[in-house]
This record gives sequence, C-alpha cells and structure tokens, in this order.
Amino acid sequence: MDTKKLGFETKMVHAGIPHDPYGSAVTPVYQTSTFAFDSAQNGADRFAGRADGFIYTRIGNPTIRALEQNVAELENGFDGVATASGMGAVTVCYMALLSQGAHLVSTGSVYGPSRTLVEQQFSRFGVEYSYIDTSDLGAVRAAIRPNTKMVYVESPSNPAMLVTDIRAVSELAHARGALVVVDNTFASPCLQKPLDLGADVVLHSVTKFINGHADVVGGLIVARDPAVYKKLRAMMIVLGVNMDPHQAFLVSRGVKTLSLRVERAQQNAMRVARWLEAHPKVAWVRYVGLESHPQHELVKRQMSGFGSMISFELKGGYEAGRNLMDNVKLATLAVSLGGVETLIEHPASMTHAGMSQADRLEGGITDGLVRYSVGIENVEDLIADLEQAIAKV
Ligand SMILES: *Cc1c(COP(=O)(O)O)cnc(C)c1O
Repeated sequence: MDTKKLGFETKMVHAGIPHDPYGSAVTPVYQTSTFAFDSAQNGADRFAGRADGFIYTRIGNPTIRALEQNVAELENGFDGVATASGMGAVTVCYMALLSQGAHLVSTGSVYGPSRTLVEQQFSRFGVEYSYIDTSDLGAVRAAIRPNTKMVYVESPSNPAMLVTDIRAVSELAHARGALVVVDNTFASPCLQKPLDLGADVVLHSVTKFINGHADVVGGLIVARDPAVYKKLRAMMIVLGVNMDPHQAFLVSRGVKTLSLRVERAQQNAMRVARWLEAHPKVAWVRYVGLESHPQHELVKRQMSGFGSMISFELKGGYEAGRNLMDNVKLATLAVSLGGVETLIEHPASMTHAGMSQADRLEGGITDGLVRYSVGIENVEDLIADLEQAIAKV
C-alpha cells in the first residue's frame, strides 16, 4: 500500500510494513544473523545489488527494515538507517559526512555526548568545530567558514530548551555548501519535521519518544537525498552499529502509539508548567509552550505542538533542586526522557556533567536546573507529587 499521502497517524501504524509471507499482522522478529541465497548466482547478485534479498543482519534485516522505512515516512524522508543507539546514529552522521579538515558548526547546548564526541575524538582526526548558540542566526552566519561541511542543530535543545530556526539555518548553510543535520529527539516527527523545513538529515535517539516505553536503547537516521542515505548506510555497515532485530520489533510497537503518547504527555506538560510557573518557590520555568518562552512565536511556526520537556529551577538553586529530586515519589529519578513514565533529573551533575561549567552556563544550563520529562500519568497525581516534594524543600 502506498502510505505516503496518508495522515501521520495512519503512517505510524501502516507505513513501511512489508508484505509477510504468512500474512502476519505485524512484522515478526527475524531473529537470524544470516539469510540463505537461492543459488551461488543469487548470492553474487544480492552482493552486487542486482537482486533483492537480505544477506546478513548487520547489513539489513526485515524487522529492522520495517522500522527504518516506517520512520523515514514519518519524517518525509527518502529512507532511514537504524542504529544500536542514538549515539550510534550521531557517530554514523559525523563519520559519513565529515572528513579531515572539515569544520562543524553546532548548537552549544547540544546533547552532552554529541559534543564530547567531536571535542575529544573527532578533533584527533583533524575535524574543526564551533559550538555556538544556533538560535542566534547572526552567530550561525559568523561561524560558517569555507570548510564548514555540517551544521548540526538540536532543537529544542536539551535541557536549555533553546529553539533554532531550522528553515533559516538551512538556507544559511546551503548557501555556503554545508549540510544540515537535526537531532529531532526532543520533538519527535509527531511535532516537528526538519526535512520539510529544509534540513538534509534528521536523527533520533529512538530510546526516547519514538519507542517511548523506557525498554530499548536505539537510534535512527533519515536522509532526504538518496546519495546521502547511501553514505550513511555504508558507514553504519562498516562501523557495525546496527540495530538488533528484537530492538527493532519493540521500537516498531512503540511507534504505533507515538502521537497518542505525545498528545497526552504534552497536555500534562502544559498543566505542570503553568502550575510550576505560578508556584512561589519556583525561580523560573522553561517550557516551549509557555508565552514566557523567549522563542514561543518561532516554536508555534516550526512545531505542531509543544512536547513534554520542562526545565525549571527552584529558588535556592542546586540544594533545593536536589532536595526536590530526593522527595518526589511518583516521578522516577532517572536520566532519559520521552517515555510513558515521568522522569526527573539534574543535568549539571548527570547528563551534562561531561561539559565544563563554563560551557554549560553558556548553553543556559545552570547548576540549579532540574529537567522534568512529563509522562502520560494522571496530571493531578503529578502535580500532587511535585507539591508534596516542593513543600519539603
Ligand atoms: C538520549 C539522546 C541522545 C543519545 O541517544 P542514546 O540512545 O542514549 O544513545 C542523543 N540526542 C538526544 C537529544 C538525546 O536525548
């Protein structure tokens, strides 16, 4: 069935699902490492790309292909490459699209390991970089050099909730010959479609919203252009960062309810954000759905919803925040995000501890910032939980 013209929710359930020889309603787990050829000639033809058919699971597998094609359609891209983790997806993008002497421009408050990977590893191979505030278009324009090959944007960024104008940045980058890669983990394709806004590549930690059940680590990259897709797939294969069939099966199950989960979680998030904003012990709240968010107008243009990630700080900074995290009972004190369960964490000592304090502050990550990933629970219960915990601070 051609699902390309159908609505997002229909694509979630049906896109990319191949015909199954037994009529299985969902793509089963093809738990195999290798695939039999029909003949010696057929084996040679599959390797040469002259015949369809799978070869070896690191290269491709029916369960994994179903997920790749499904998410590629959700992002309105050409095709997708699944990876063992979100960082696997980031690594494949850098390796496939950057070379010695290339320059990368990226969001300063990007996911910590995405930055550390460049500063500590890719720098050893002669990759140059500028970490800047990509929400400032003047800063992006000034940072692009003749050897800039990639502008790597995370929007909304984690956990500062800085929003980058993906359309404007894509125009700037393309005029100077650079590709635009967007980490769309925070928004999910349900709320933001970077390829439609002009980006070339979009990637996800599917660990978060796409799988959504806190039971899988995984990544996925979608490219708009077939030539870029081929480079990404070739790199994934030689790096050996393939997804596993069972992982892919679970993520495919998660995708089918993506919009239901995202809609419910963002309704909850709006209520929680407004409640926090009105609380006398709260110093500030950063949620892209609040009118107080400095880029609220851009968010409304670029995203179809506000998502469920909230950052805030209590009066009393880090000590008060630590007290809060030790006293919540319903929210789980854990890193990660985008699952059905509400999670709370402290970026400066946990997810972003690898960055220097100066880099964190430059990216808006204060020591007292608490990150709250809102789940699909009853919102009154979530507010009551925060209320009793804040009362103890
Ligand atoms: C979690 C995360 C990653 C890394 O993904 P893993 O699946 O943990 O490897 C990358 N980008 C963002 C925005 C994330 O939240």
